[in-house]
Amino acid sequence: MSENLKQRIREDIAINGPMPLSRYMNICLGDPQDGYYTSQDPFGLAGDFTTAPEISQMFGELIGAWLIEAWEKLGAPTQCRLVELGPGRGTLMADCLRSISLKPKMLAALQIEMVEISPVLIAEQQKKLSGSQCAVRWCEQLDAAELPTLIVANEFYDALPVHVMIKSNSKIYERHVVATDDDGLGFSDLPATLPKTALPDFNKIPENTVFELSPERHQMTQNLAKALTICGGAALMIDYGFLQPKSGTTFQALKNHQPVDPLDSPGNADLTSLVDFTALQNGFQALGLNVHGPTSQMDFLLNLGLLERAGHLGAAADQVTRTTLQKAVTRLVAPDEMGTLFKVIAATTFNDSMPGFGE
Ligand code: SAH
Repeated sequence: MSENLKQRIREDIAINGPMPLSRYMNICLGDPQDGYYTSQDPFGLAGDFTTAPEISQMFGELIGAWLIEAWEKLGAPTQCRLVELGPGRGTLMADCLRSISLKPKMLAALQIEMVEISPVLIAEQQKKLSGSQCAVRWCEQLDAAELPTLIVANEFYDALPVHVMIKSNSKIYERHVVATDDDGLGFSDLPATLPKTALPDFNKIPENTVFELSPERHQMTQNLAKALTICGGAALMIDYGFLQPKSGTTFQALKNHQPVDPLDSPGNADLTSLVDFTALQNGFQALGLNVHGPTSQMDFLLNLGLLERAGHLGAAADQVTRTTLQKAVTRLVAPDEMGTLFKVIAATTFNDSMPGFGE
């Protein structure tokens, strides 16, 4: 499988010239035949990484409670879209819906949209949601609709492509993938393909810096804002990322929970980079939305009542289950696990405070 994709990428480069890293990332993750997400299920212990919803049902249940609050602040509309971007195995949505089922009026109002490019994962999501009382539809991108809209996305933004840029000798370069003589792939920093309007103020970038840009993520923020503002709404995004824009690249490949060479086996490793939450915050604010956070996953989940939820589930459980719950809490919120690396941000069309952000 990977050899096939590597060969096709080399052929593409032979025809079109060096490939910007952002395009390489897009192909490796989303190629309809051999892409990392489109050709397999990458999650879990046996897979390459484990996401928060796969660690514990408590994650999705607390997010379900957050969504109930958002729906109420929208005036409890009798018809409302609930969109999930990049829903993986469908676990987060299933756990959210379990919480929401405590509010039958909200459950009855929901039309669910799963935005997903992977046929393998769509099949898993369909299985997971087969007993759902809500209408569920699948689509490849977020559409605008004349309905109040709730959006949730966990580890979605980081899968959108990133451009690695370099300022050197008073010029801006962009990292590209080239074909090497030994039938492999290599990196080369070549003149930037991004339009000048997508670049930050040239003079403000120090010489010899490497930095990341993602017009694709910015475009997604604009699409989200547009979807929310038509009839009102709220979006909640969780991802691993940073608040202070850094120099240097965070682009990396992960296979079996370990970093690997991103050029070695295209389509067989996850390619990601940290999400710039300050860029997200600025993007939503510039479009007139109220921004909540960014905050850490630790503060968000503790503020939402993770410990109380774990205590409640543990009270009626045996010792083995209690230990599992304790381990899950540690993985989700400990600073040396997911607690501080993962950040949470929300954007709403209403002014009220939202739970989880200490507002
Ligand atoms: N939210 C899930 C999965 C995160 S992995 C969880 O927390 O477990 C990223 C998800 O986004 C996968 O489901 C992947 O197939 C999907 N995805 C990646 N790029 C996408 C794109 N451009 N459009 C829609 N879905 C995408």
